Amino acid sequence: MSTEGQQSAIAYLGLGSSLGDRWRHLQDALQRLEQMGTGVRVLAVSPVYESPHLGLDPEDAQRYPPHLNCVVQVETTLSPHALLDRALMVERAGGRQRTEKWGPRTIDIDILLYADLMLTADTLTVPHPGLTERAFVVLPLYDLAPELTLPDGRLLACVVRSDRICQQRIWRVNPPDVAVATAQRREAER
Ligand code: AMP
Repeated sequence: MSTEGQQSAIAYLGLGSSLGDRWRHLQDALQRLEQMGTGVRVLAVSPVYESPHLGLDPEDAQRYPPHLNCVVQVETTLSPHALLDRALMVERAGGRQRTEKWGPRTIDIDILLYADLMLTADTLTVPHPGLTERAFVVLPLYDLAPELTLPDGRLLACVVRSDRICQQRIWRVNPPDVAVATAQRREAER
């Protein structure tokens, strides 16, 4: 239950950015999810991963910058559709433009899971249809919830080890200030 006494749910959101200051876009989106209204509280944020752009054309991986992705666990009193509205609002505030399908984007927010809900509606499918296919979703989700069972009964731990996930190119990255601090420490240790 939330502090307001309304029923609350745990949801997982996937955040991604591949255009402009990608770290800033992720950071801003995290804050806006809570600040652009009531009913969303960020409980945990996964490490951030980087992976090549997957576009409609295989050449896109060379043409476009790689993506940064993380997963956020939230507690929410919003309904699934109201949570989607919040996500779309945050995308718009982050300058998201829908010019090219699967093109680069300042910020993308997907509802990956909403409690144990399985929902297929015109504008919203939960769990997100790409959830178990994308390493940039599965790995950070696993960091946050290694014991998770998906609503269809599959263990996330099994999905993480599937060939489909293991074959994808992806690496974990530190935020810029951590990278700078690490470089400075190494320099000082010489
Ligand atoms: P995208 O281009 O990936 O940002 O697509 C966003 C659109 O996908 C939204 O406007 C939603 O209507 C639709 N959609 C369907 N299911 C989901 C979901 N689980 N999370 C986010 N968007 C969804």
